[in-house]
This record gives sequence, C-alpha cells and structure tokens, in this order.
Amino acid sequence: MAGWLQLVTFTAIALISALIPSLETSTCAIYRESTLGNALFITAHPDDETMFFAPTILSLVSQNVSVEALCLSNGDSGGLGSMRERELYEAYSILGVENVRILAHQQIRDNITLQWDSKLLAGIIQHHLEHHKISTIFTFDEQGVSGHPNHAAIPKALALVINSGVYPGIKAYSLVTHPLPIKYSGIAAPLLIRLSHVVGWGKDTCVLARTRVSNLAGYLTTLRAMRKHDTQLVWFRWLYLAFSRYMWVNDWAPLQTA
Ligand SMILES: [Zn+2]
Repeated sequence: MAGWLQLVTFTAIALISALIPSLETSTCAIYRESTLGNALFITAHPDDETMFFAPTILSLVSQNVSVEALCLSNGDSGGLGSMRERELYEAYSILGVENVRILAHQQIRDNITLQWDSKLLAGIIQHHLEHHKISTIFTFDEQGVSGHPNHAAIPKALALVINSGVYPGIKAYSLVTHPLPIKYSGIAAPLLIRLSHVVGWGKDTCVLARTRVSNLAGYLTTLRAMRKHDTQLVWFRWLYLAFSRYMWVNDWAPLQTA
C-alpha cells in the first residue's frame, strides 16, 4: 500500500514539477537571515520537525543560519521512545541540523490526553535558553497544526518566557495553522505562491506571512528525512506526506504573547 502511494506521489510531483520547474526556496524571505542569529526550533515529538517545519529548517540551513533543536519528548507514547530518539537524530541530520536535544521529563511526555503544565514548561525552556545563545525561536501556534495538545502547550509556555522580560532580545515565531482545505493543498500551495509572484499578486501578504517555500529538491529531502521515522510511517501518514501544505510551505506569525 505504502509503495503504491509513493509511486503515485512521485509520478504526480515529477509531472507537475516538469510544468513549473523553478520553485525557489525562501520565496518571501522578508526577514533577513543575518538578523536571526542562532535559531532554535522547539517541537513536541520526534517527526514534528519533518512533518511541519522542514521548509523553514532547510531554508535557514541552506543560508548558513545556525540552527538548533529542542524536542520536548521522545515520543514514547507507544513504548518506542528509544527508537524514536534515534529516528529524530537521523531525520534532523538529513535536514542539516546536528545540534539536537531531546528533553526527558516525567511530566512532559508524549500523550494526547496529557496537558503539559505551562509554568513547568516555561521553566524548562528558560533553563535551555540560559545554556544556549539563542536569538530566534520557531514553534507551533496555539492550534498546533494538528490540534495535538502537546503542540499547543509550547506557544503558551513560550509566551510566559517572553513576557517574563528575562530575554528581551529574543524573537519568537509561530507556525500558522491553516483550515483543512488549505492544510491539504499539497503541491498546489507552492505553485500558487510562485504564480502569485510571477503575476505580482500577494507581495503584501507575503510580508505579513513570513513564508518559507521548499522547491522539489527540498521536498524530496523532507521525504528522505521522514523515511527515518520508520515507526511512524503507517499508510495514512503517506497520504499526509503527499497532500500536506506543510511539506512545501511554512507561514509564520509573531508569537502571541497577550
Ligand atoms: Zn507532534
């Protein structure tokens, strides 16, 4: 089943990319890489980085921005924690990131029914920032793309850190959660963005959205990284990889701190 889906996906992408060959990364690079300093991606589970954040990670790495990662759990909800840790390191390595830390905390575990305590999480993030020189943080918004409560807990905790005033220079951005029809717009998303630039639409929208777009090579790298998450590659995840906008495009907004 998975092989069949792969074949259909690759064939569709090859045909479409042959029609429009020049998708560029960082089409809307409105914030200059030189101002980002050291960038930190905070995620909840192994595979979040690949399924949701890869267009931005690849874009920053390709422009020599220093990228670090903090994953707040080892994804042990199915008893596969140690395997998923290894998968995370291997996936990040394919995305070009070697500085990866996985948190091990009894109250911050991969569990869809567990509400992570915001104050506890804020303290953990703050502790990490004390030991790492970070200028820009990228994470989920309060919908967490998939609605997973562990994802949604991160921006709430990060807002507490930002509002504490201890790190006034740190910039923080949230990955915008889109409604379902846009979320599953797949390869149409980068093509429409590309088209809007060709015809001169959407330039203001681009400035507001801080959009990062993968080209075909970036998409294929993301697929390679996802193959490292072997424990997660059940049939419906192949559908996600084929049709998710987040495999191609990331839209960013400043973190809500109010
Ligand atoms: Zn997750």
